[in-house]
Amino acid sequence: MRPRMASPSCSGCGQVLPLTRLHFRFALEVEGEQQALDSRPLGDSPEALAELVRTLESADAAELEAQVHFEASGVLCPRCRRRLLEVVGHAPAGPH
Ligand SMILES: [Zn+2]
Repeated sequence: MRPRMASPSCSGCGQVLPLTRLHFRFALEVEGEQQALDSRPLGDSPEALAELVRTLESADAAELEAQVHFEASGVLCPRCRRRLLEVVGHAPAGPH
């Protein structure tokens, strides 16, 4: 096990996040699967999934071309957390 770092940096924008400030731990797993497009596990629309794929492609296009499985974990600042939730369609402020 790796020792926990004293001050992690945001996986979205890279800013250092002191543990005394509000931050969000996340674990993301994305797997390429034809059937997933039909069952729509992420959000309610194919557009949300496509947007997520576009975001990941812009982050590391070469790696995504080499493998359809993507995993990431780390911490996010409040702003990057909001952006991620908007992409996957689970923004807490949405209508319910
Ligand atoms: Zn950030």
